[in-house]
Amino acid sequence: MTSIWWVRDDLRLHDNAALAHAAQAGPVIAVHIDERVEGARPLGGASRWWLHHSLTALAADLREHGIPVVLASGDPHEQLLRIAQETGADTVAWQRRYHLPFREADARIKADLHDRGVDARSVPGFLLHEPWTVRTGADQPYKVYSPFARACADAPPPQSPQDVPDRLDGPAPTTRVAGHEVRTWLRDGDFAERLDARGWLPTHLDWAGGLRAMWTPGEAGARARLDDLADVLATYDEDRDRPDRDGTSRLSPHLRFGEVSPREARHASRRSRAGSAETFRAELLWREFAWHRLFHLPDLATANVRAQFDGFDWREDAEELRAWQRGRTGIDLVDAGMRELWETGTMHNRVRMVVASFLTKNLRLHWRRGEEWFWDTLVDADEASNPFNWQWVAGTGDDAAPYFRVFNPERQQERFDPHGAYVRRWVPEAGTDDALAPIVDLKASRQEALDAYSAVKG
Ligand SMILES: Cc1cc2nc3c(=O)[nH]c(=O)nc-3n(C[C@H](O)[C@H](O)[C@H](O)COP(=O)(O)OP(=O)(O)OC[C@H]3O[C@@H](n4cnc5c(N)ncnc54)[C@H](O)[C@@H]3O)c2cc1C
Repeated sequence: MTSIWWVRDDLRLHDNAALAHAAQAGPVIAVHIDERVEGARPLGGASRWWLHHSLTALAADLREHGIPVVLASGDPHEQLLRIAQETGADTVAWQRRYHLPFREADARIKADLHDRGVDARSVPGFLLHEPWTVRTGADQPYKVYSPFARACADAPPPQSPQDVPDRLDGPAPTTRVAGHEVRTWLRDGDFAERLDARGWLPTHLDWAGGLRAMWTPGEAGARARLDDLADVLATYDEDRDRPDRDGTSRLSPHLRFGEVSPREARHASRRSRAGSAETFRAELLWREFAWHRLFHLPDLATANVRAQFDGFDWREDAEELRAWQRGRTGIDLVDAGMRELWETGTMHNRVRMVVASFLTKNLRLHWRRGEEWFWDTLVDADEASNPFNWQWVAGTGDDAAPYFRVFNPERQQERFDPHGAYVRRWVPEAGTDDALAPIVDLKASRQEALDAYSAVKG
């Protein structure tokens, strides 16, 4: 009998309960589906680039065990049931996910597999705490980070991460799956050709050079970052707010695609000095909190959490939006961040807050326009953290950051890029005759934003 490991956002062999369950039950076939699920967002461009390379790395690691990665696309219900039937699998295991459209799809698949006598098993692993287990004293979900973080601290601590399963075997090479023999899926060239057919890499214009230079998608790249964590955390408290320094873990895309588990990240932090390790674990809990909110607010990416903002006077201006996207606003720190994003697929957290504040307050363009751009261009874009943080900065979310907190990009630059190294790196024309003129007056636009806010605050 064979087992299916349905690979989703858990592209790793270490600390993977879904893979472990499948492997324990029998020879494993890994399946990845390019899914069409109603209500779920199609991946953005940078995420597709990442996933292409991460799947390539996973297939290479699994090939050593004779385990194929079978690629399918379409409705996951149809695909998975078909593959289970074709291979006669008696076990299907997957890591849970928390966005409503996927939860509903998974529940249906599980019920129908059970009906056919298949042991369908969903296991935790993407988060440290299942979102429904963290509740207020009044048995409600949390809306504020600090008590949520305290409740997590009071909950039973996550278990230690697990190693790669001892036994990992694939099925007989002549087994047929998705129309081909397993040995076909196992051949590097054949797998690559099928993956290429998904069309996830840039074709006309190669915009991914900066991504390739910066990142190594896949478990090996993720574990290399994890190995560096102790060094990063040695100065994390001092450096993590400084975009001019390489002061943070850079684990976010690896966590996003499950190339490391949050348990492993948390566990690795324990090797570091206490203060920084605690700060780092608090950051991991921001990730948890974002998913906690998305679990309870499935429309987080499209609807204001605070309904009073439904009547807010957002502006529409395609040209200004484009200037922001391209890093051509004439505001140095904003342009540096937006150019860093375009080139590398990431942006320092401090600068993310500044560019988001600038878009939603100084330009008064809707936070959704910014969220959508980040969704397409960030390698760590996720369904929870991205809209959650956008709503947090915009002031439309349910956390404490008020709308009237408008970041001043110039003050932020003085504080967090005091020697101008970050800005010079991305905006070489800053401070020269070629510098762009600002597209907006910071002071006047701040006041206009505050006035617009007063109008909805009642
Ligand atoms: C407007 C905006 C949009 C954002 N969109 C995303 C997104 O789509 N995906 C994403 O992972 N993060 C997002 N963030 C949060 C944060 O900027 C990144 O997680 C962080 O910059 C990643 O770098 P790092 O891994 O070096 O972080 P570290 O400082 O090393 O932090 C460790 C981990 O904690 C988590 N984390 C840290 N801060 C946050 C936070 N504010 N919210 C949620 N998780 C956090 C991440 O998983 C991160 O890898 C966004 C922030 C803002 C202001």
